Amino acid sequence: MNAPVAPTIIHADHQRNTLARRLEQEVQGELLFSRGDRGRYATDASIYQIDPIGVLVPKNFNDVIIAREICAELEAPLIMRGGGTSQCGQTVGEALVLDNSKFLNKVISLDLDAMTVTVEPGIVLDHLNAWLRPHGVWFPVDVSTAAQCTIGGMTGNNSCGSRSIQYGNMVHNVAAIDALLADGTQASFGPLATMPQDDTSRIGQIVRQLMEIGRREHDEITQQVPKTLRRVGGYNIDIFNPQSSRPYTADGQPNLAHLLVGSEGTLAISKQITLKLAPLPTEKVLGVVNFPTFYQAMDMTQHIVTLDPAAVELIDNTMIRLALENPAFKTTIEKALIGDPEAVLLVEFAGDNKAERIAKLKQLNDLMGDLGLPNSVVELITPAEQKALWSVRKSALNIMMSMRGDGKPVSFIEDCAVPLEHLAEYTTKLTDIFHKHGTNGTWYAHASVGTLHVRPILDMRRDGGPKMRAIAEEASALVRQYKGAFSGEHGDGLVRSEWVAWQFGPRLMKAFEEIKDLFDPQGLLNPGKIVRSPKMDAAELFRFTPGYEAKAMNSALDWSRWNVSSDPATQSTGDPGSGDDATGGFAKAVEMCNNNGHCRKFDSGTMCPSYRVTRDERHLTRGRANTLRLAISGQLGPDALTSEEVADSLDLCVSCKGCKRECPTGVDMAKMKIEVLYQRQKKYGIKLKDKLIATMPQWAPWAAKFPWLFNLRDKIPGVPQLTEKLFDLSAKRSLPRWRKDTFLSQASSVPAQDADVVLFADTFNNYLESENAIAAHAVLTAAGYQVHVAQAHPDDQEKQRPLCCGRTYLAAGLIDEAKVEAKRVVTALGPFIEKGIPVVGLEPSCLLSLRDEFLVMGLGDLADKLSRQSFLFEEFLANEHHNGTLKLSLTPLPQKQALLHGHCHQKAFDAVKPVQTVLGLIPDLNVSLIESSCCGMAGAFGYEASHYDISMKMGELSLLPAIRDASDDTLLIADGTSCRHQIHDGAQREAIHVAQVLQQALA
Ligand SMILES: Cc1cc2nc3c(=O)[nH]c(=O)nc-3n(C[C@H](O)[C@H](O)[C@H](O)COP(=O)(O)OP(=O)(O)OC[C@H]3O[C@@H](n4cnc5c(N)ncnc54)[C@H](O)[C@@H]3O)c2cc1C
Ligand code: SF4
Ligand code: SF4
Repeated sequence: MNAPVAPTIIHADHQRNTLARRLEQEVQGELLFSRGDRGRYATDASIYQIDPIGVLVPKNFNDVIIAREICAELEAPLIMRGGGTSQCGQTVGEALVLDNSKFLNKVISLDLDAMTVTVEPGIVLDHLNAWLRPHGVWFPVDVSTAAQCTIGGMTGNNSCGSRSIQYGNMVHNVAAIDALLADGTQASFGPLATMPQDDTSRIGQIVRQLMEIGRREHDEITQQVPKTLRRVGGYNIDIFNPQSSRPYTADGQPNLAHLLVGSEGTLAISKQITLKLAPLPTEKVLGVVNFPTFYQAMDMTQHIVTLDPAAVELIDNTMIRLALENPAFKTTIEKALIGDPEAVLLVEFAGDNKAERIAKLKQLNDLMGDLGLPNSVVELITPAEQKALWSVRKSALNIMMSMRGDGKPVSFIEDCAVPLEHLAEYTTKLTDIFHKHGTNGTWYAHASVGTLHVRPILDMRRDGGPKMRAIAEEASALVRQYKGAFSGEHGDGLVRSEWVAWQFGPRLMKAFEEIKDLFDPQGLLNPGKIVRSPKMDAAELFRFTPGYEAKAMNSALDWSRWNVSSDPATQSTGDPGSGDDATGGFAKAVEMCNNNGHCRKFDSGTMCPSYRVTRDERHLTRGRANTLRLAISGQLGPDALTSEEVADSLDLCVSCKGCKRECPTGVDMAKMKIEVLYQRQKKYGIKLKDKLIATMPQWAPWAAKFPWLFNLRDKIPGVPQLTEKLFDLSAKRSLPRWRKDTFLSQASSVPAQDADVVLFADTFNNYLESENAIAAHAVLTAAGYQVHVAQAHPDDQEKQRPLCCGRTYLAAGLIDEAKVEAKRVVTALGPFIEKGIPVVGLEPSCLLSLRDEFLVMGLGDLADKLSRQSFLFEEFLANEHHNGTLKLSLTPLPQKQALLHGHCHQKAFDAVKPVQTVLGLIPDLNVSLIESSCCGMAGAFGYEASHYDISMKMGELSLLPAIRDASDDTLLIADGTSCRHQIHDGAQREAIHVAQVLQQALA
C-alpha cells in the first residue's frame, strides 16, 4: 500500500491563476474564480466557510475528466457539488469545486422492466420524480430538500427520506454507479459478481483488496457498526457483512456501488447513477396521534411501527405553537389537534388499496386505546388535507431557523439515531444536557427510525464552539449507551468526521483510511472528510468565526426588527434594537440566510425568477445574501457593499419579494437591494436613466399636459434606438402612453367627512391607465360605498401634485426622496386613518408599499396604522364579502373562461386569493390561475435594454406560454401594470385589471 500523499494545496494567487488558465484553455464549462464567486461557494447549509480555489460549472462530463486531470497534475483537490444543501460541511473546502447542478442533470435511460432509471448526478430529485410520474413510478428516498437536492448529492450523503422505514436510505436504493476515479480510471460499480476480480486491472485490484478488507474486518464490523437502519457515518464497509436492519441487496450479495454511497465524494466522482424505482402509491391515509406528554410520544413509537406504516413523524409542542402562530399553517395544524397536546405523531399508511389503509387507521385507533390513549387520533383521508399537514412538517426546520438574533439552532447532533425502545429516555436525557449548557432544542422528524432532529441554540461568534463540543461529547455517550448511530441522516462532512473513529473504533478507522488510499492515494477528492479530518470546532473554519463582525454603517431604512438580543434557553428574542449590530440590523437581516438552498426553486412559487433563468449561484437569493454577508463583514475588501461585485449580484434581482414570503427565514432581498442601491448612489450618484424613471411622479403632470410630446418616442423612426443608447430603454419595447384624461382630472369624490372608503390612485393608474381607477371607482360606488379620492393634504407644499407611494424612488435607491413621498401620503391619509376608514389602491407594487416599505422609513405610528388599513381593491371587496357586507350585483360576462396572472407582490402578500374570490362572484366565469413566477417586467427592469433578454426569458418560463395557449375568447386578467405590458409585448394579447372585469360585470 502506498503511503498517503497530502496534496499540496495551491492557494497562492498565481497558482490559482495557473489552474484557472489551464481550465480556461481546456474546458467548455463556466469558470468562477472571482472573490465573490468563490465566496458564494465557500459555504453550504453547515456552520463552515472555506474559500475554494475556484469553481467550475462543467458543461459536460468531459469537462470533469479534464478538470480532474489538471487538478491531479497541479495537486489541487477537487470537490463535487450538487445543490450544496449539506448540513455538515461536505461541500466546503480549499479545492476546485465542481457544480454539477447546472448542466449535468439529464435522465439517461429508464428501464421499467428492471424498475431502474439511470441519471446524471446533477438532476434534482423533484425533477426526476416529475419526469417519472407519467410512468407510474417514483424514486422514493423523499428527503425534505427534494426540490433542491441532486441525486449526486443524495448519493454522496447516503440521504434518507421521511418514508425510509418503508423504502430505506440511498444505500438501499442505488443499483449502480458509473464513476471516475482520482487517477482517471472510469468504471461501473455494481453487484460484486459483475465486477472484475481476477485480472490485473486497477478496478480488479481495488475489488480484491476491498474484499480482503471485508474478510479481515468481518468480526470488527459485527462489533462496531450500528445495527440501526439510519447509519450514514463512515464508509459502508458492512456491504461485506451487512449490519443494517434492512438488507442492502435482495440476494444478500455485496454491491460495490454501495461503498461509494455516503462516501461524500471522497472515493470517486459519480458520472451516472442507476436508481431502483418503486410504484407510485395510489392510496394514502394519515393518522395524527395526539399525546399529552412528549415522553409518551417517544415511548409509544415502538408500538406504532408494528402496524407497518410508511412514515411516523414527530412534531413537538414548540413546533405546534410556532405553526399555530403562523397564518400559513394555523388552520392546517388546528385540524390535526385534539386539545393541547405536547406532541403529535403523523402516522402514514400507503399502498394500493384504500379499504386496507382505512382499516390500518382503525388498528391505529385501537392500538392507542390499548396503550391508554383512546380517541387520540385525528384521521386525515383526503390528499389535500394530508398534503397541507405534510407541508407543516417539512417546513419544521425552516420554521425553527426563522429565529432572529445571534443565537441560532446549530446542526451537529441533529440526526443521531437510537433504537426505538430507547427513544424516550434518550430524548429526555439529551434535553437535560441542553439545559445544563444553558440552551434548548425543538424536536421533530423521523420517529419511525429513531432519528429525531434537534438543534440546540448556540452563538457561534461567542461561546458556541466550546458548547458545541461539550454537548456533542455528552450526546455521544448517550448514543453509545443506546447502541445508536451518531450520524443517522446528514453524514460526516466537517462537523462529524472527527467522530467517525469514535463511532467505529480505531481498527475500522484504519480500514477506512486504507479504503480511501486505495481509491485516492493522492488525496485529491474532497480531502478532510470522513478520514483525516479537522476538529469539528476548528473555529477558523466557521462561517461566523469568533470575532466576526459587520462593519459599521448608517442604514437609511429601519432594520431594528432584526437587531435583537436572543436567549437560547427560552428561545425568545428581545425588542427591536436590543441587539448590538453596528449596521442597525441590516447585517443581522442578511445573516438570516442559513444557506439551506430553498431558493433553488424551479416549479412552484415565485422565488427566485432570475435564478430560474440563469441557474447561476450569483443570481440566487442565497448567492446574493452570501455576497452581502461577505461584503458587510469586510471579506470582499474595503467598502465592498458599494462595489461592482455586489451591484453585479443584485443586478438581476427583480425585487419581486418572492424571497420575503418564500424564503423560510424571511430573507427580504428586495428591501436589501433598496438599501444597497441607496448606499451606492450616496457614494457614486445616480445614472441619468435611473433618475429619469425614479423622478417620474415629478414630471408626470407635464407628460399629462403634453402627451403628444412625451409619446413621440414610439412614433418617430430611430428614436427608440436613440433612447436605447442614451437611457438604456430597450428599442424592442413600446413605452406606456401618456394621456390628458387622467383619473384625477375627472374623478368625482365625496367630501372627506362622508367617506366610507378612500381610493388611492397611484401614478400608473392615474396617468397611464386611468380606466382602471375609473372602473374601481364605479364598482365601489355600485356596491354602495361613499368613495373619497385621496388627495394631497392642504398644507402640502406640492399640493397640486398627486400623491405617490415613492415606489419609483425606492427602485433606484433614492430612499430620502421616497420618504418625502411617503410622508405626503401618511399626512394626507392621517385623518382617515384615525377614523379607521380603509384605503384602497390598485397597483400591487404601489399599494403594498404602504404595508411594507412605509414601515421601515421611520414614519411613526400613523404609518403603522395605515399599513393595517390599506387594501388592494380586490382585498377590500373580498373582506367585505367574507363579512357578508358586500352588496355587489354582478351578471355573466360574454367570456366564460378567464386566466389570471398574479403580480409578484400580490403573491408575496398572499393577495392573489382575493382576486379569485371576487372573480368568483361573477356568475358562470371559470377562472384559472397561471402557475407563474415573475412576469419578467418588474417595473422598469424589463424596459432596460441590458435586461431585455433576461426579462423575456423570465416571461417565457410559464406566463407567456400559458397566455399563448389561451383561446381568443379567454379573458386575461393581471393587476400589475408591468405584467400587462409584458403580456402585450411577449404574447401580443391584452390583459386587464380585475377592476375592469368587475365593472364589465356590473348588473
Ligand atoms: C432544510 C434541510 C433539510 C434537509 N433534509 C434532509 C432529509 O430529509 N434527509 C436527508 O438525508 N438529508 C437532508 N438534508 C441534507 C441534504 O439536503 C441532503 O443530504 C441532500 O441529499 C444533499 O444534496 P445536494 O445536492 O445538496 O448535495 P451537496 O450538498 O451538493 O453534496 C453532498 C455530497 O455529495 C457529494 N457529491 C455531489 N455530487 C457528486 C458526484 N457527482 N460525485 C461524487 N460526489 C458527489 C459532495 O461532494 C458532497 O460530499 C437537509 C438539508 C437541509 C438544509
Ligand atoms: S436565501 Fe433563504 S431560501 Fe435561500 S438559502 Fe438563504 S435562507 Fe434559504
Ligand atoms: S426579490 Fe425576487 S428576484 Fe430578488 S432575490 Fe428575492 S426572489 Fe430573487
